[in-house]
This record gives sequence, C-alpha cells and structure tokens, in this order.
Amino acid sequence: MAACTQCGSELPAGARFCAACGARVPEAVEPPAPQAFPGGYVVPAPPTDGQAVAALVLGILGLVFCPIVCSIIAIVLGKTSQRKIESSGGTLGGLGMAKAGWVLGIIGLVIGLLWIVFFGLIAGASIFGGFMDPNIDIYN
Ligand SMILES: [Zn+2]
Repeated sequence: MAACTQCGSELPAGARFCAACGARVPEAVEPPAPQAFPGGYVVPAPPTDGQAVAALVLGILGLVFCPIVCSIIAIVLGKTSQRKIESSGGTLGGLGMAKAGWVLGIIGLVIGLLWIVFFGLIAGASIFGGFMDPNIDIYN
C-alpha cells in the first residue's frame, strides 16, 4: 500500500490524490490514453493546396538547380496558392508552404540575377581583358 509523500497517510490503490491532504500522488494510475476516434479516425486537416506544394518544390529547385525559371514559377504559384488558401475559409491548407515557396522563389530569382550579373561581368572582363592582354597569342 502506497503512502502519501506529503502527510504519510495510506493511499488506496490507484489513488491519484491523497484523501487526507489532497496532494497529488506521484506515479499514480497511468494517464488516460488520448481519446481516439472510433476506428482510429483522426480529425482531417484541410487538404494542402497542390499549388502550395508545387511552389515550395519549385522554390527549392530554383535555389538548387534551375534559378530564374523555377523561381519565377514558384513566385507565381506561391502567390496564387496563398490567395486561394486565404480565400478558402479554412478548407485548404498549406499556407506556410505557399509563403515559403514564394519567399524561396524571390530569393532564387535574386540569386539567379546576381549570378547572371556576376558571370556577365566576368565574361565581359575576360573578353575585354583578352584583347588587352599582351601575352595572349591571338595568332596561334
Ligand atoms: Zn497526504
């Protein structure tokens, strides 16, 4: 028989609180399992908007594989999906994804444009520098 840690009085088996002092009994009965719906049915979250997923994927692709093109599509899809989800009244999910795709798209676009400028400058400098370089053997 367990005893109350607060007042020492005996506790009936399975008691969660001491009848004498009202202290909570540590390690009492295991907490009731979360009430599952019959058949293990879980309250459905609103379905994620497909465009939100696409925007996120394209946003990532735009950062990794194909900047500019994927990024622009990600921005468009992300914005469209965001509007759609916001006006769906909670029947569509994935707003976070849509926003993330949109942001990633913008980041990818900016990075892509910076690369173009960067490589453009390098290419321009090397072409221009090539003509100016006295060591280059243009006669082969
Ligand atoms: Zn007690």
